[in-house]
Amino acid sequence: NSKNVLLEVQGLKVAYGGIQAVKGANFEVREGELVSLIGANGAGKTTTLKAVTGLQPVGDGDIRYLGRSIKGQGAWDLVRQGLVMVPEGRGTFTRMTIVENLQMGAFIRDDDEIEADIDKVFAIFPRLKERAEQLAGTMSGGEQQMLAMGRALMARPKVLLLDEPSMGLSPIMVDKIFEVVADIHSRGTTILLVEQNASRALALANRGYVMDSGEITMTGLGRDLLADPKVQAAYLGA
Ligand code: ATP
Repeated sequence: NSKNVLLEVQGLKVAYGGIQAVKGANFEVREGELVSLIGANGAGKTTTLKAVTGLQPVGDGDIRYLGRSIKGQGAWDLVRQGLVMVPEGRGTFTRMTIVENLQMGAFIRDDDEIEADIDKVFAIFPRLKERAEQLAGTMSGGEQQMLAMGRALMARPKVLLLDEPSMGLSPIMVDKIFEVVADIHSRGTTILLVEQNASRALALANRGYVMDSGEITMTGLGRDLLADPKVQAAYLGA
């Protein structure tokens, strides 16, 4: 693979007090890829995303982005550099409208293409356009997930990190969210996707990593992991 490595995590360790949540994880994300990180509850996936995006202090190891170490850099600086996460639980601004939430997503920008980008987000998520003036807090869970993803896109991410976008959604909405993840990827955004819905996440992924108890235990092409008997037994309910 000759594509540029955008994000490279080397021997990452993260602890909460005495509890080692991530115990030396290694992985990389290349330009244009959709990479899925799967694993059981408590495996350390969310902690890994928080460490990468500057929301959780890192112990040993290094995080390299666009060829430079970003270890210790703050979350806002990293957003400005294009490393943008949609957190678990979405975190929309509930007392603001859809449009206002999208405008907030562009807080790091001062160019004159913000309105045009809102239209692009509306093209990806027609539901958000229909509800443009509705307060975010009154939207359904799936709609709020769409809004959180749309807001993240407004920052023009180079790498979009999605933490469990399908969590807590109805089956139809889960389908819709995975469709949209594929759509955003096909429009050129590099994606690191954390999911408990391993089969859906691996089906979309160019490559995947399996995390178990704070360590990366397997990696491969998405389709190869999907077909792997060990992955099927442990994560796909086979
Ligand atoms: P899930 O899918 O359930 O979110 P995960 O793979 O994302 O799981 P993490 O949320 O990263 O896992 O949690 C990894 C470990 O770190 C767990 O044992 C968890 O209890 C612990 N942990 C997470 N956040 C904290 C915290 N703020 N303080 C103490 N321990 C934490």
